[in-house]
Amino acid sequence: MSTVLNFNAGPAMLPPPVLEKAQAELRDYRGRGMSIMEMSHRSKEYEAVNSDAESRIKKLLGLAEGYRAIFVQGGASSQFATLPLNFLPTSSTADYIVTGSWGEKAIEEAANIGQAHLAGSTKADNYRRVPRADEIKLTDGSAYVHYTTNETIQGVQWHALPEVGDRPLVADMSSDILSYPFDASKFSLIYAGAQKNLGPAGVTVVILRESWLESANKKIPTMFRYGTHVKNNSLYNTPPTFGVYLLGLVLQWIDEIGGLEAMAKRNKAKADTLYTAIDGSNGYYKGHAEADSRSNMNVTFRLPNEALEKQFVSEAQAAGMVGLAGHRSVGGIRASIYNACDVEACKALATFMGDFAKKNG
Ligand SMILES: *Cc1c(COP(=O)(O)O)cnc(C)c1O
Repeated sequence: MSTVLNFNAGPAMLPPPVLEKAQAELRDYRGRGMSIMEMSHRSKEYEAVNSDAESRIKKLLGLAEGYRAIFVQGGASSQFATLPLNFLPTSSTADYIVTGSWGEKAIEEAANIGQAHLAGSTKADNYRRVPRADEIKLTDGSAYVHYTTNETIQGVQWHALPEVGDRPLVADMSSDILSYPFDASKFSLIYAGAQKNLGPAGVTVVILRESWLESANKKIPTMFRYGTHVKNNSLYNTPPTFGVYLLGLVLQWIDEIGGLEAMAKRNKAKADTLYTAIDGSNGYYKGHAEADSRSNMNVTFRLPNEALEKQFVSEAQAAGMVGLAGHRSVGGIRASIYNACDVEACKALATFMGDFAKKNG
């Protein structure tokens, strides 16, 4: 079997034990003589997978009564519209704090649906950091405040929650959910596409405070109402069953690693390994994000010129390290080091970076 060190941004690496378990169960799911993906979503087996995944994600986030987790389709990009469709009435305004490309998309979608206010942005700084508290201007009584906890393309991450008073707080956590412990009870809604930290593409997780649903717009198509999926335990229509099954295995794996505290420790060690390589390169590598906004999930940096960046990506690939080209919109190098990636992979990349700088400096 050939394996590589996988730094893909998304879909991204999955934990090897998860793939092994899925492989072992692929042809015969627990004595049923068929795969979990070949059976009804109304079967007792799948219902168990579905409810186990919901309870595990809530438990990892420390959420009990009053919150629900649903599994839907359409990616985080659909959530950009689904959120304002449900929670942005025409009489109100939603605040958006934008720290990168995904936040830009989220506010654009909201503005198609209702009034969206750019409450804070670090675009003038080329999205190198999150805004300071005094740079955020929230609307009185806004419908909600939306932000992106980790900007996957720029490699900029919030390391504390924004202060929003009693306004409902909403976050796109697609690229850092379950990578560190945080107070999830501060949020009214969290959404995340699974393909970075949670599982395969095709599943989107939405975690929401049940009481907020009472104010949701009911005059939108059934499939777009959060309430539909909550009421039907994510089984209103056919869910992405195999994806939810894999997601459940990933949640189990996080538990086995030691939960979010252990995950955070591991992620910090990984990120430190790479940022140390950048900072110790005498300016050969230039990190994109400012130190206090650096992402522990997507490490973004530049080399002295684009030709060297190309060479870096291709030599890394030859050395068995894939997925290191930056997003096509910003260029440079991006190492995506989500939960599934281990410290050894980061150490190998740091060593490669040191050698490359020596040879090409
Ligand atoms: C990848 C990503 C998205 C887009 O997710 P899709 O599932 O492709 O729609 C949105 N937000 C963030 C923060 C992301 O990393």
